[in-house]
Amino acid sequence: MAFPMPVRQLFIDGEWREPLKKNRIPIINPSTEEIIGDIPAATAEDVEVAVVAARKAFRRNKGRDWAATSGAHRAKYLRAIAAKVKERKDHFVKLETLDSGKPFDEAVLDIDDVASCFEYFAGQAEALDAKQKAPVTLPMDRFKSHVLRQPIGVVGLISPWNYPLLMATWKIAPALAAGCTAVLKPSELASVTCLEFGEVCNEVGLPPGVLNILTGLGPDAGAPIVSHPDIDKVAFTGSSATGSKIMASAAQLVKPVTLELGGKSPIIMFEDIDIDTAVEWTIFGVFWTNGQICSATSRLLVHESIATEFVDRMVKWTKNIKISDPFEEGCRLGPVISKGQYDKIMNFISTAKSEGATILYGGSRPEHLKKGYFIEPTIITDISTSMQIWKEEVFGPVICVKTFSTEDEAIELANDTQYGLAAAVFSKDLERCERVTKALEVGAVWVNCSQPCFVQAPWGGIKRSGFGRELGEWGIENYLNIKQVTSDISDEPW
Ligand code: NAD
Repeated sequence: MAFPMPVRQLFIDGEWREPLKKNRIPIINPSTEEIIGDIPAATAEDVEVAVVAARKAFRRNKGRDWAATSGAHRAKYLRAIAAKVKERKDHFVKLETLDSGKPFDEAVLDIDDVASCFEYFAGQAEALDAKQKAPVTLPMDRFKSHVLRQPIGVVGLISPWNYPLLMATWKIAPALAAGCTAVLKPSELASVTCLEFGEVCNEVGLPPGVLNILTGLGPDAGAPIVSHPDIDKVAFTGSSATGSKIMASAAQLVKPVTLELGGKSPIIMFEDIDIDTAVEWTIFGVFWTNGQICSATSRLLVHESIATEFVDRMVKWTKNIKISDPFEEGCRLGPVISKGQYDKIMNFISTAKSEGATILYGGSRPEHLKKGYFIEPTIITDISTSMQIWKEEVFGPVICVKTFSTEDEAIELANDTQYGLAAAVFSKDLERCERVTKALEVGAVWVNCSQPCFVQAPWGGIKRSGFGRELGEWGIENYLNIKQVTSDISDEPW
């Protein structure tokens, strides 16, 4: 589908501003490899201007600052944003599909989730008012203590490209709900919908400077946000490698960070499952979003007694996945995001082959698609735990399969990773599911399913998948300082 990409500038202090160095980055359609527009490339100079605007908005004038507004007041803006996103849903869905290459139907769900997330955090902002001045029980009558929950300040939000507007929303909505002001830096590989979001902010009358949106490269626009002394906190979603750099930079200023990083999540199939249902979840859990899901259940551990049948049915199912331009009706797998990712994934597959694994299905560019960064859904067997494909995050439509014979072995293999984002376990024996769930070293476990994600439930990892929790009531806490207030209420001398 061809339609013009909007031409936008940086969104700073409620205005569209040309980047000070006037540079732009091309937008490449991953389905055709054509340049279809460009986005502004911010640098440290633009970050400076945006941080000043965000600080002014945080504490502007007496009674007018965002930080001092009530949760109920901020909730009105969040609900208005949700309504505006719904009103412009068609526009956002088309842009997200074109820019990221994700199947159109999946982009529809993403944009629905964006609106729901703003609505949810509107509720959280209201709930915050009721939580203020929560009393603390003290052991002495002479003193009275309560707790204030106050916005952390100006926050830097850095997001990835796999769910461009949704991942940004997971940060914007709770940050604004908490009373923070923000500078957002989306991924240079898919920034279009995040920039469009600036228009929504203006249409709902969000005070200037409350949200600033800077597109640009990580080292040029992201790093200066992290190291800026007037950014009070950084919330980051992206790769573990970048997360580690961000943590090191933030440590210089003892700046708090939350890190939502990569994964290599296992999906465990015990022998008592309904194979067809489990295969369907397995396919969904790894090939959704063109295989570019942080929590993709990309290591299939299947009990040896059902392995042959399971894998046969998985191959049959995979053959039916429609790979096409993401706008085509029925598309289930579009292109990966960029040439860089395409090459990286192909390298993973060829290294797996050279290390002795079997590419049971896929592993190549689909024959009918000559252009675009398309990769067949790929199933790899004959895996050993020393192989790169077992250990490293591929972030593409690739699943590796390994068998096990006992529950203990399944748990050991599942935890045999530096990552700890998510895991799935399938069995009709719910006691077994509970035992395995407790033993899994991850931030989220799906039982008899894979990937369902709800704004009400906490999201985040352990180990090298990061720390901190987004979403749910935990999400807003990321952007709040807890202040203890203790008063001497006695007239007696101390
Ligand atoms: P990335 O680390 O390459 O980039 C993420 C963001 O960081 C981008 O906006 C990028 O421009 C910016 N960046 C890059 N270098 C920077 C630097 N030095 N300083 C500051 N910012 C910098 O990740 P990606 O390729 O965009 O995203 C894919 C990764 O994200 C995968 O590893 C995936 O698992 C992870 N991810 C995790 C979650 C989660 O919830 N845990 C969700 C989505 C994606």
